[in-house]
Amino acid sequence: MALPLFISEIPVIKKLEINRFSLIIGSLFPDIIDKPLLLLGLGTGRLFSHNLFFILIAFLILFIFTKRNLRISVPFLAGMSIHLILDIPKVPLFYPLISYDFLLLEEPLSFWFSQLFSDPVVIITELIGVAILIFIVINNKLYHRKDINEYLKGSYQTIITKEE
Ligand SMILES: [Zn+2]
Repeated sequence: MALPLFISEIPVIKKLEINRFSLIIGSLFPDIIDKPLLLLGLGTGRLFSHNLFFILIAFLILFIFTKRNLRISVPFLAGMSIHLILDIPKVPLFYPLISYDFLLLEEPLSFWFSQLFSDPVVIITELIGVAILIFIVINNKLYHRKDINEYLKGSYQTIITKEE
């Protein structure tokens, strides 16, 4: 979620006024689908929600439901794509065309919890994520609910345009 938001801070992209709410949901979506499946003991949902076929279908459904609104559907696709890239190498990109084997975690919650405190790569990436989010809050002065709403909707620097 932090990396897509960070990318949306690049001035050229900021001007596109993309909907950041759908960018955030998109960046979480593959896990929103697969983690509950895993926790319910329905097998690893990763196969189902971490492949190119899935993200294209999800994009198309949102594209149609938003009446072809690209400012909403494209950030959603971008968020999902970045999620898959960051999950590499454990990504069954071409499922169901190619079959993949995954180790099924017996105790996923305690595994993630212990990883959060023992795996230096996980700790460092989580800290970078938090740092990026703090940067975004300060850089966009997101101290009031109204400002956060505007930010999520993708309104581009309303203060500057008022001065012009
Ligand atoms: Zn994932």
